Amino acid sequence: MFFVFYSMDYQLLRAYDNYISASIILARLDEEGIRCYLKDEYTVTIDPILSNAIGGIKLMVEPADFARAKELLDGFDRQYRASAKCPRCGSHDIVYISKPGVKNWITAIASWLFSSYAIPATQVYQCADCGNETADLPASDEESFMI
Ligand SMILES: [Zn+2]
Repeated sequence: MFFVFYSMDYQLLRAYDNYISASIILARLDEEGIRCYLKDEYTVTIDPILSNAIGGIKLMVEPADFARAKELLDGFDRQYRASAKCPRCGSHDIVYISKPGVKNWITAIASWLFSSYAIPATQVYQCADCGNETADLPASDEESFMI
């Protein structure tokens, strides 16, 4: 008999502000044999506002798989960025950055006003050419929304 236990020492690989991105990455890592799960997914799905308070949906990875998971994730990012396009200027030069403080707070209000499900992220994708920012990477063939 085999049981799978989620050990307490799983490490946080990345936090997501929406369930869809988190579950896509989870599935892709899982395909690669990475032992991982989403933490706080239930809370976040039920209450998006609370998600910000508890730090989003956390992608937790087994320590032994962590280095490889991070490599895979970087690879996904590169792939995804290459296919993404800035919705404002069309540039493919999109970077993933961390945003502190006030501006994020304004984003929080804006997303609260315009969409109950668009959660403010502490990390955003920013166009290196025009500075346009989005919480989710704008993929050319996927539904995307701007904040
Ligand atoms: Zn741009």
